[in-house]
Amino acid sequence: MISVADALRIVVDTAAPLGSERVALVDACGRVAAEDVVSTRAVPAADNSAMDGFAVRAEDVAEPGARLRIVGSVPAGSVRAEPLARGTAVKIFTGSVVPPGADTVVRVEDTEDAGEHVIVTVAVSRGANVRRAGEDIAVGATVVRAGQEIGPADVGVIASLGRAALTVHCRPRIAIVSTGAELVEVDEAAGPGQVVNSNAYALAAAVVETGLPRPLVLPIVRDRFEDIRASLEEATARADVVLSTGGVSVGDYDFVKDALDAIGVERLFWKVAQKPGKPLAFGRRGTRLVFGLPGNPVSALVCFAVYVWPALRRLAGHTRLHVPSERAVLGAPVRRKPGLTEFVRVHLDHGRGRLPIATPFRSQSSGVLTGLAGGAGLLVAPADRGALEAGDEFDVLRPGPFAAAGTSSVLLGATVAMPGGTC
Ligand code: AMP
Ligand code: MG
Repeated sequence: MISVADALRIVVDTAAPLGSERVALVDACGRVAAEDVVSTRAVPAADNSAMDGFAVRAEDVAEPGARLRIVGSVPAGSVRAEPLARGTAVKIFTGSVVPPGADTVVRVEDTEDAGEHVIVTVAVSRGANVRRAGEDIAVGATVVRAGQEIGPADVGVIASLGRAALTVHCRPRIAIVSTGAELVEVDEAAGPGQVVNSNAYALAAAVVETGLPRPLVLPIVRDRFEDIRASLEEATARADVVLSTGGVSVGDYDFVKDALDAIGVERLFWKVAQKPGKPLAFGRRGTRLVFGLPGNPVSALVCFAVYVWPALRRLAGHTRLHVPSERAVLGAPVRRKPGLTEFVRVHLDHGRGRLPIATPFRSQSSGVLTGLAGGAGLLVAPADRGALEAGDEFDVLRPGPFAAAGTSSVLLGATVAMPGGTC
């Protein structure tokens, strides 16, 4: 049985960024750039006005009370080629190009209307209210680097360079395999001994919550070796990441490990010193990753948060991989023995104190999914700790959308920035 840190290290080391594709610029938001974007333009392209007012020559407005003749107007979108003579002003609007000869803009609020003239009531310094050409982006500047997560502002910057597409990392395709002779579909009546396949829904939702597309959910498979083998074979052929649930423990009908062996998945670990989720298995076939998640609904989701979440990020090209976490004060004692890392399901109360209070859910059973419902956090009880005292501080994992990824891992005990992929 390996430790949580060792298992997680194997997962993030095994996952490698997928290839790349060119997408429409808007669709690049939330994705990871697979190319540098170097500016071929200056933004703004020319000196322009930051205010509505008058373009002037600085020497004319060095003292308050200057009286300048208005010789024209430059509405946004138009350009005035004629150089501005001494003692004159041109009416100008936000974004309009400053005419040649002018180097300063006086705000309309600092002027008085005098018919064909304007009186500048204050002294204005050279360059005031002028946005310089290239002030935002200079020609040759790298505005996006490969490996960078693209947000709305990046999309705007790239668009301002006149580019409508970007090369980004592919996102992993995920397949869900649900094993269990007791399982029925959500719209089937559950007879005695039968259980609705809720894991497929919870895991698909966990994938969707990250921002990735919906996974492929394969039909339920019974606890028969041949059926499980065939389903895992199909899943591995069709997806970059396979998430199976159930059948991975030591019961008579737990065929997932053997089925993975049979289809040539190299098993990198099975069984982790953790609670819940001890029977977790992980392997790879080529670049395809397979997680044999335990069937217990809580175990499956906890393993998703701790292991699958960072793996999916890595595949999607992200370099910050870690599930966001925050420090919290335990609100009530937790009885436990040392030996396993425990993910205690807690409710976080961001009240008045310096740190939020983490209150453990009433039931910590791995079958009681309500202990994870409603935005629960996973308080990490280190393997070497016995009973947890109220008032002690712990790290609490808060999995969720990819946008919230953390920069360091409380589980690996270090800041881990993975290098970006080469596609
Ligand atoms: P297993 O890991 O196959 O021994 O399953 C452990 C427990 O999880 C059993 O109580 C199962 O009924 C339950 N379980 C397994 N798969 C699912 C599933 N897809 N949805 C809901 N519960 C499940
Ligand atoms: Mg089972």
